[in-house]
Amino acid sequence: MLSRRWCVALLAFIGFASGMASGAEATRLRVLTSIPPLYCWTANVAGSLATVENLLPADVSPHDYQFRPRDLKRIGAADVIVLNGLGLEDWFARAIRANSKDAKKKVVHVADGLPEAVLVRHLPTIDVGAGKGAAHDHDHDHDHDDAGKHANPHLWLDPQIARHGVSNILHALQAADPANASGYATNATGYLAKLDALDAEIRTATATIRGRPVVTFHDAFPYFCRRYGLDLVGVIEEVPGTDPSPRYLAALLKVVRAKGVKVLFTEPSSNPRLAKRLADDLGIAVAELDVLETGALTPTSYEDGMRRNLAVLRQSLK
Ligand SMILES: [Zn+2]
Repeated sequence: MLSRRWCVALLAFIGFASGMASGAEATRLRVLTSIPPLYCWTANVAGSLATVENLLPADVSPHDYQFRPRDLKRIGAADVIVLNGLGLEDWFARAIRANSKDAKKKVVHVADGLPEAVLVRHLPTIDVGAGKGAAHDHDHDHDHDDAGKHANPHLWLDPQIARHGVSNILHALQAADPANASGYATNATGYLAKLDALDAEIRTATATIRGRPVVTFHDAFPYFCRRYGLDLVGVIEEVPGTDPSPRYLAALLKVVRAKGVKVLFTEPSSNPRLAKRLADDLGIAVAELDVLETGALTPTSYEDGMRRNLAVLRQSLK
């Protein structure tokens, strides 16, 4: 049996050890992300070296988000904030500027440093006639305040652009937490290999559907389609969150018929009624592609979502 003295010593040691653990927890880098793909990439680079949280709940789109007071606290407490950029989270960027003195220092945009030639600035051309409405600057409801200023923000749906984002995240984590720089580098190398495998898998699996015409709900897939040789011929919502005009829809239906489009793609947070009605009129199918703006917050959710989309594309475009 342990003597009383030993018991006291043991309890003191346990207290000391748990104090160490919570101390490590307290000093661990805190990273805040905006949307699930960025959460996923950051969680993979961070591993067990940093704490990663996503600002938005898993089921809320960046389109619809309203700030809550506790979000301001999380912004203030974060050491690094990972944003997409290109106007996707201007609402977030404004709140960061208003609530954190060193905001600029702690924000990293995954889009930073991408060459201009990589960025997509136009919607697929839908000729609505009379010189109006054809290929105009991409304007998104993520970004109504700065119409036309930004390129299309949906970079994450291209796994090779994801590599660029992961590198930006790696450098930001290393700069904020130099003691763990080599650990972050090791984690990032492992994750980049997974992204390469994902890219190769999609490339191989889409070989048989290359060149097929695609119509999506909002303009989220230009980077994906360009990467894998799909022909993005139109989008249903010319301005996301706004019902398309009858004139625009008539022009879109013309394109759908002319190009032999076989399926209209909806997305999880869209109302599928409009796409369903159009598809019924045309006698074609409806299927759902996930833009990954909402969804599970796990380290594998990005790869899982991309593979689900791949399965849908192969099934509906074969
Ligand atoms: Zn979007």
